Amino acid sequence: MTSFSLHGVGVSSGIAIGQAHLISNALLEVVHYQLPNHLISDEIKRFENAVQTVKADLEEINGSLRKNAPAELSAFIGTHLMILADKSLSEVPKTIIQNEKCNAEWAIKLQMDDIVEQFEQIEDEYLRERKQDVVQVVERVIKVLLGHPSQLATEQQLSALSEERKLILVAHDISPADAIQFKQHEFAAFITDVGGVTSHTAILARSLNIPSIVALQKARDLIHDGELIIVDGKQGVVIVNPDKNILTEYKLRQEQWELEQQKLQRIKSAKAVTLDGASIELFANIEVPEDVVAARAAGATGIGLYRTEFLFMNRREMPDEEEQFVAYKAVAEAMKGDVVVIRTLDLGADKQMNPDTVVTCANPALGLRAIRFCLAEPQIFHTQLRALLRASHFGNIKILVPMLSTLSELRQTKLLLERAKLSLRKQGIPFNETIALGGMIEIPAAAINAEAFAHELDFLSIGTNDLIQYTLAIDRTDDAVAHLYNPLHPSVLKLIAMTIKAGDKLGKSVSVCGEMAGDAKLTKLLIGMGLRQLSMHPSHILSVKQQILHSQLSALSANSRKILNLTDIEKIEPQVAKLNRIADLRMHPRP
Ligand code: PEP
Ligand code: MG
Repeated sequence: MTSFSLHGVGVSSGIAIGQAHLISNALLEVVHYQLPNHLISDEIKRFENAVQTVKADLEEINGSLRKNAPAELSAFIGTHLMILADKSLSEVPKTIIQNEKCNAEWAIKLQMDDIVEQFEQIEDEYLRERKQDVVQVVERVIKVLLGHPSQLATEQQLSALSEERKLILVAHDISPADAIQFKQHEFAAFITDVGGVTSHTAILARSLNIPSIVALQKARDLIHDGELIIVDGKQGVVIVNPDKNILTEYKLRQEQWELEQQKLQRIKSAKAVTLDGASIELFANIEVPEDVVAARAAGATGIGLYRTEFLFMNRREMPDEEEQFVAYKAVAEAMKGDVVVIRTLDLGADKQMNPDTVVTCANPALGLRAIRFCLAEPQIFHTQLRALLRASHFGNIKILVPMLSTLSELRQTKLLLERAKLSLRKQGIPFNETIALGGMIEIPAAAINAEAFAHELDFLSIGTNDLIQYTLAIDRTDDAVAHLYNPLHPSVLKLIAMTIKAGDKLGKSVSVCGEMAGDAKLTKLLIGMGLRQLSMHPSHILSVKQQILHSQLSALSANSRKILNLTDIEKIEPQVAKLNRIADLRMHPRP
């Protein structure tokens, strides 16, 4: 058997060694045939039954979701149900069967091609990728029409298989509904031909915590069922039929990785304190209330960023005040008095309510998003502010405003907050009168003017994802320029340093809640620069904490100052690596 390797985009780290389990691509099996007039109505019935079966399947999966299943899964199944219910998929194919006198599989495939073509015209990469959801739903319908059993093998077959050997799923694409079954059967990894870093597959992979690689192009064609494969999620490499030496090497690496993960569990309840006694707060970023479970399990001592816009997505109606209140209160109560920073609506750019509401503009990331949208829609904002204030009575809630660029936006926000407070007071509804108000520093204009913002705010939170995007003029969702997206660019570091300095000067706390906070390779630099609060995806908390426990703050501060004086990324990168090594050597001295 020849050995070869494939390269894609690693979206979830770790190493898996196992046997390939190929998932069929029903779309390739669709044929076209004509029907005589007297069979048309039966064919339409057959189509309707298939749609009903898929609907029932999806609802069953949704209903059987375990309580601790990643919340994204339920949202994605909801999206698939919505797509299935849309007339363009549930009704139009019937007209096609009628007019073209063709089989149901062909009719829905024709309709899908049409919809996909429309999606391809969309400029926004995130939305463009949503066409995969349509394809996945259509695939389900076609499989039922073709009489295929469910995409994955039966429960018993899989349990038997996964007990004996590790299975790695190899697919053209994997739908969220199928992904749920991964969790139950403990697949070792999954790899797909398509999908970008922001695809649902990638988002799910991260939340399932198994190694995965997307965008492998031809994995499904080149790999055969049962072949032995190695998946290195960190490097984005798949090795098919590895020879004995490679296999031994990767088994070793895998053992190391697993050992590291186990070791990390030991520090779960340890306080995040440096060797010289500085305490660092490690908070979690969450998208939906259910994420609090993962945040707590990872030892987060607060929620540093609750992205409320997820409550507004995949639906046509805005959530009303009561629905929002229930969600915010649930998080506040679950955190039992620990800090919960709730960010006001950050809709816009790659985060839209649903495709119908997309406003096409040339540069959505520079458009009417976040606080700009809220100020332009004061009624929507008022509803959210009232819900937030009401929930503040039940826990330690702080409000965070995204995308501030001018002081006038902040002042308008404060006026609207006062108006919301007044309306509650009049109704005698309790809330925290002194609720803290913070601002996200994620636009260079705000970082440069951070001192002025710090004067008028209770705390600052640096959104490095957008700060990097806007400082370097790099669309954070565009693969083509992803190689230029570098958190260590000297200008990015300087803007972060300016924000920290402004907060220190005015005695206001400063945190980082962008992805930089969860990158363990940057922890020592960030705390060396003076940060004492980091908020990240729960799965990153332990590796960041480990860095903190190994840090000598005094040494880090001096070295970080030197790094800040550098003007060239090529010099900064090795210095940051050195910063990490110095502390590592202190922990593991050479014999
Ligand atoms: C950021 O921009 O760094 C951030 C935390 O917000 P989001 O990723 O939601 O834009
Ligand atoms: Mg942001």
